[in-house]
Amino acid sequence: MGYRIGYGEDIHAFKEGDFFPLAGVMIPGRAVIAHSDGDVIYHALMDALLGAASLGDIGELFPDDDARYAGISSSLLVKEVYRLVKEKGFALANVDIHLLLERPKILPYKEKMKENICSLLSLEADRVSLKAGTNEGFDSVGEGRAVKAIVSLLLEDKDGKPESH
Ligand code: MG
Repeated sequence: MGYRIGYGEDIHAFKEGDFFPLAGVMIPGRAVIAHSDGDVIYHALMDALLGAASLGDIGELFPDDDARYAGISSSLLVKEVYRLVKEKGFALANVDIHLLLERPKILPYKEKMKENICSLLSLEADRVSLKAGTNEGFDSVGEGRAVKAIVSLLLEDKDGKPESH
């Protein structure tokens, strides 16, 4: 069985507004500057999937100067990326997500976020980890000016052919 590790990260700046999305959950209090909906978890997740499958990056697949993607729900983009990954013969073993933001506390939203990810990727809860922390006051995230997500994951090659070296 062949394995592929994937890594992705994304950051979006806050602006004044009512809501911003995290894994499809609308978090109240601020908004983010973005061409699509600016969901950092879904964006980092897509780049990790694309990276593991060696399929490029989300900027290449969904250019930010393409009007079709203006304000689009990132869950639709995740579905398309996951379709491409599966089409290439890969299955997703697990996803580990690390979210960094200073406020608000996301604990009340965490279960729903995890539920959304599991349902989008057809994964059992045990295969999805969602961790969150602050940046201890440092940099744009720590100063409460941005939200960031880092995702690592593992793909299994379903065809079972060993990787050549
Ligand atoms: Mg982004």
